[in-house]
Amino acid sequence: MVQGYQALAKNSQSIQAKVGEAAKSSNRKPEEIQIVAVTKSVDIETTRQVFQLGYQHLAENRVSQLLEKQAALQDCASVKWHFIGHLQRRKVKLVINKIDYFHALDRLSLAEEIQKRAEREIRCFVQVNVSNEASKQGLAIDEVINFIKELKAFSKIKVVGLMTMAPKNASDETLHQFFTTLKRLQMRIEALKMPYAPCTELSMGMSQDYPIAIQEGATFVRIGTAFFIN
Ligand SMILES: *Cc1c(COP(=O)(O)O)cnc(C)c1O
Repeated sequence: MVQGYQALAKNSQSIQAKVGEAAKSSNRKPEEIQIVAVTKSVDIETTRQVFQLGYQHLAENRVSQLLEKQAALQDCASVKWHFIGHLQRRKVKLVINKIDYFHALDRLSLAEEIQKRAEREIRCFVQVNVSNEASKQGLAIDEVINFIKELKAFSKIKVVGLMTMAPKNASDETLHQFFTTLKRLQMRIEALKMPYAPCTELSMGMSQDYPIAIQEGATFVRIGTAFFIN
């Protein structure tokens, strides 16, 4: 996909510029927004180049690929690894102690398995299906608060925030609506001041829609394709 370091560096600059613009247009500071580079579609060497460009937050969505990259990039010790994909219960034990953030908590059976396998507190995002598409993972908006209340029983789970994926090809107006809906829900949960669920973060925005997500309050944007296009 990528033609080398030059193309990657150029794409990186353009992403930085767009993040800056989006932040400015909504009176936010660019430092409030953490770019998570989604390296799921590229090889180990390209992943290393992303790190060398200064991105320390890297995301994968497959267990085997995450483990392989971690093994190959041990010298990049400051990487924060994010797991952003659907995680099968039986694979929890393979990854849960090797990641810094888990973005796809969406069911109690998964929480139970994390509780059983985690050796420390795991920072989790609860995944929300804001657009209510049948094909998407995540809880419906009106299930989220009860779900998070139930997580109180799981001492190893810290709910740092909410995560969503917007539908592809939605209009800008619809995207603003989805992202602002998640922002409002996040603020309601934060206001409940549950010690295990500070819920201060919003993981939303991908290559297609991250400027809009930033305008609506994203604190983590998950960007893949935009880094790797030519
Ligand atoms: C692949 C993926 C991304 C990145 O998508 P791009 O469109 O390539 O930026 C973000 N979040 C999740 C959950 C993904 O699976």
